Amino acid sequence: MDKVFINNIVRRKTKRVYVGHVAVGDGAQISVQSMTNTKTADVKATIEQIRKAEEAGVDIMRISCPDEASTLALPEIIKNVKVPIIADIHFHYKRGIEAAKAGATCLRINPGNIGSIEGVKEVVRAAKDNNCSIRIGVNGGSLEKGLLEKYGEPCSDAMVESALMQAKMLEDEDFTNFKISVKSSNTLMTMDAYRKLSKACDYPLHLGITETGSFHSGLIKSAFGIGSLLAEGIGDTLRVSLTADIIHEVKAGFEILKTLDIRHRGIRLISCPTCARTSYNVIDIVATLEERLSKITAPLTIAIMGCVVNGPGEALHADIGVAGGGANNHMLYVKGKQVGFVKSEDVIEKVVELAYEQASAIDKK
Ligand code: SF4
Repeated sequence: MDKVFINNIVRRKTKRVYVGHVAVGDGAQISVQSMTNTKTADVKATIEQIRKAEEAGVDIMRISCPDEASTLALPEIIKNVKVPIIADIHFHYKRGIEAAKAGATCLRINPGNIGSIEGVKEVVRAAKDNNCSIRIGVNGGSLEKGLLEKYGEPCSDAMVESALMQAKMLEDEDFTNFKISVKSSNTLMTMDAYRKLSKACDYPLHLGITETGSFHSGLIKSAFGIGSLLAEGIGDTLRVSLTADIIHEVKAGFEILKTLDIRHRGIRLISCPTCARTSYNVIDIVATLEERLSKITAPLTIAIMGCVVNGPGEALHADIGVAGGGANNHMLYVKGKQVGFVKSEDVIEKVVELAYEQASAIDKK
């Protein structure tokens, strides 16, 4: 199998599919997805939420279509947003057909719960006719009865077998324009399933850990699970599922990619945990900066460090850096050079000013 390198990570080579204009797989940039949690038929609220996610940088949005009112709302929603829309379909194959006709660029289906083979065939036909890709979304919580009987309980082998059976179902319809996910709420089981699936097929993989619990536990499980798989070269698109405002999902997705040096968007903040040596209010300053700089999309590194122990070292390697000094005189660094001093009360404004200046220079290039 050919290899694609990103930094030191050897990415698994896959087929490529498109979700609207967004390429997935075969070395394409790893895309960040999220999902609306408004009532889809509430067109205004759904458009507003997607636009907020777009501001945060989301590449692809998914929308649940549990009823006909939802698929009827799709054309108006799609017309008013920039990112491609995936329709999330369960149980009713007719919703899949309606969504494909309504302009969804991809259908997320779980062929195991969509009813008869005939229903799946009709959805595939609609996808073909409307240039839609499909995501086969296997979930450990809704495995086929036969597989649960065979394996006794949800496990990675059952998830992989389900995914491959469903892939075969689509291949039998002469349809290969799909990606696959094998999510569960058990992080290690999910990782195992993705590793096995990545060896068993070359379809692009959508990564995610699902039903992750509270915000903090969700972040940690997702960062560990998705991050580990990406570091092994597995995964072509991702969604961090959080029981929280969807903007956190988008931000977390980018943080995982930034941490692995796979994709940079916006500010990378480096700051120390603070201790008795800290000579200014690093914690509050970092929280405020994160908020004030959240609209910047240019990749910039900013170091806010509490003292001279590790401060100068980190600040020197950042685009903008502050290292705490004595007598309310903190050292200010720009692009590896100390350019002066800044007082505690001026740190935020100075850093914001420099960050917007540097971001605008990058954007103009
Ligand atoms: S950089 Fe200085 S203030 Fe920050 S944790 Fe390290 S020793 Fe403490």
